[in-house]
Amino acid sequence: MSIDYLHDKWYHTYMKTLKFKLYSHKRNKYLKASINAAGVIYNHCIALHKRYYRRWGKHLNCAKLQAHIAKLRKRKEFWQSVGSQAVQDICQRIEKAYQLFFKHHKKGVRPPNFKKVKKYKSFTLKQAGYKFLGGNRVKIGSRVYQYWNSTEVEGKVKTLTIKRTPLGELFLVVVVDSIDEPGIRLTTGKIAGFDFGLKTFLTCSDGTTIVSPQFFKQSLNVIKKANRHHSQKLKGSSNRERARKNLVRAHEDISNRRTDWFWKLALSLTNRFDVLCFETLNLKGMKRLWGRKISDLAFQDFLNILEWIAKKKGKLVVYIDQWYPSSKTCSCCGHVIDPLDLSVREWRCPSCQSINGRDDNASKNIQSVGASMVGLGNVRQAMPAIAV
Ligand SMILES: [Zn+2]
Repeated sequence: MSIDYLHDKWYHTYMKTLKFKLYSHKRNKYLKASINAAGVIYNHCIALHKRYYRRWGKHLNCAKLQAHIAKLRKRKEFWQSVGSQAVQDICQRIEKAYQLFFKHHKKGVRPPNFKKVKKYKSFTLKQAGYKFLGGNRVKIGSRVYQYWNSTEVEGKVKTLTIKRTPLGELFLVVVVDSIDEPGIRLTTGKIAGFDFGLKTFLTCSDGTTIVSPQFFKQSLNVIKKANRHHSQKLKGSSNRERARKNLVRAHEDISNRRTDWFWKLALSLTNRFDVLCFETLNLKGMKRLWGRKISDLAFQDFLNILEWIAKKKGKLVVYIDQWYPSSKTCSCCGHVIDPLDLSVREWRCPSCQSINGRDDNASKNIQSVGASMVGLGNVRQAMPAIAV
């Protein structure tokens, strides 16, 4: 299949997210205080929203809230440890959460609520309140901090976020607008479709499969033990704090091993194919179908990594509509059969008599829909182009 002309057609403009760890330093206490203050302000905003609604029966609009908070901030010294931009960001985030709630409350979305200040994680600055000084130094507020600069910060900085992990470490998360990258760089001339699964992590339309290592299951005993130790320790004791850190580390260890595996897998897949097609994830539906196990599989994390690598290497990741009946459509003739029970692993097409393995058939369909979306191959099922 020739995909030469995609060279000119697909140009990526994208935002890049870079993450750096800050050097641990006494000075970091100021950032931590800012995060705490951000948490206090957040809770104050939530209280105002609730009070306003009780009193007037209306939603407190974002501009009004921002003006009020800005005025209050002038009188409260502690609040001033958070930059005015970060304060605006808090108001906007709450507004977004409310809009989401108004739109989707029937689907069970809850309004934003109070958060424990101790667990509050971050604050975000937009255009002002920080400056990159070159090398590994950044000025935030009036102080200079250093970080482990694994890559250069290139392009226009959109936002800067200071994040606090459960272990109390601080990270710098920088979102930059990246310059256009060249479009697809063809190396293999191949396109493939992939179907996510429970035991088989990915089924590829070329007939190969990738089995999930199930990192969480492997470490289940370690986690159980760490959990037990934690709950046995006296609340508020230093032993309990140590046990909590151990537990967090055990979870981080799992996620590190999984992430590592994801990177390797993404590298090998982008070596093998130029265009990679997936179904848009429907995590809620998958959870209903498969239960809690799905969080152990972390499909979305994998896709994020794959997209990142694909962009770097000039490959294309394509998503097809989640409602496309990929497992019920015959990949030979396009015939669509009645609802398939999950236990049915194989079926015979009543129209063309070919035998379709469930996952294999789905991945082939995903490939052909993906191909039609980027303007390749047989356009048997024309689908609207989304999220390319
Ligand atoms: Zn058929």
